[in-house]
Amino acid sequence: MTEVTPPAPDGQRVPKSPAISFEFFPPKTEEMEKSLWETIKRLAPLTPNFVSVTYGAGGSTRERTHSTITRILNETDIRPAAHLTCVGAARGEIDDIVSRYHDVGVRHIVALRGDPPGGIGTPYTTHPQGYQTSAELVDGIKKRHPDIEVSVSAYPEKHPESPDFDADIDVLKAKVDAGATRAITQVFFDNDLYLRYLDRVRARGIDIPIVPGIMPMHNFKQARNFVTRAGTSVPDWLAEKFDGLDDDAETRKLVAATVAAGQVQKLAKQGVDTFHFYTMNRADLVFAISHLLGIRPQGAQKAA
Ligand code: FAD
Repeated sequence: MTEVTPPAPDGQRVPKSPAISFEFFPPKTEEMEKSLWETIKRLAPLTPNFVSVTYGAGGSTRERTHSTITRILNETDIRPAAHLTCVGAARGEIDDIVSRYHDVGVRHIVALRGDPPGGIGTPYTTHPQGYQTSAELVDGIKKRHPDIEVSVSAYPEKHPESPDFDADIDVLKAKVDAGATRAITQVFFDNDLYLRYLDRVRARGIDIPIVPGIMPMHNFKQARNFVTRAGTSVPDWLAEKFDGLDDDAETRKLVAATVAAGQVQKLAKQGVDTFHFYTMNRADLVFAISHLLGIRPQGAQKAA
């Protein structure tokens, strides 16, 4: 289960390459689909543990998520994980989605409550016949399909709706008790937040891997707005690194790669041996960062 092995003394090479996974969103247009498949083709030889495909707010990408997942399953050697939320659907509908995935061979679901139907910051309301919590969703999946592996979310800075860390970790514990075997964290930029959160989670007796979610910031301004709304703090030192680069995409890219590579290398030195990358459907930065972690393309991979 370890995603953390004992830290390597400062300056020493991290002994083995970490395990990685990649997150994509389902493409909206033909052009975006072409670009996603170029990304998948580039990243597949890095042999990720799995790649996951998000589920649009309120289920808005239900079919697109399904077709992306099915194509990954049919055309690559990579194991896909389908994200799924409880929002805006009755249990029966959600159960059907899961069964459809199971029928085509999907064996990994990232089970989420989802954002409030009115958008982040509005009160969360459940569907009257729906799964009321993410833990109920995990339970529903595991009871009907014990062979499906279920991953869930975790929040190193606590979820914005959580009153405190204890309440937040109660929810994580409920998801684990319901059968989740991996948590992937919300993006964070301050490694200490993750390491402190890990201590809190372990102190509660939760021993599943808590895989850090890493986001290389291709477009700092856009990404900052997005992650801040989801409760991630953006440290001043990070904003300063992108200062003055609004019109210089090339330098921004180099800075983004350097920052994210520094973050994962520091975590690796602390013994973290599994990373989940929010790719934004782009390969370049993630490929470079994986390279710096010691991950090299492997033989001929079936990919697109
Ligand atoms: P949970 O784990 O169920 O809860 C998170 C926290 O919110 C809890 O700790 C709890 O304290 C608090 N909370 C939950 N319910 C309540 C309540 N009723 N009242 C008060 N507090 C409450 N969203 C998408 O729409 N599609 C995706 O594909 C997607 N993928 C994601 C992948 C990852 C790895 C992560 C970290 C998030 C993802 N999200 C996605 C975002 C997620 O849906 C939102 O953060 C959502 O607000 C919470 O869903 P959850 O499953 O994380 O919530």
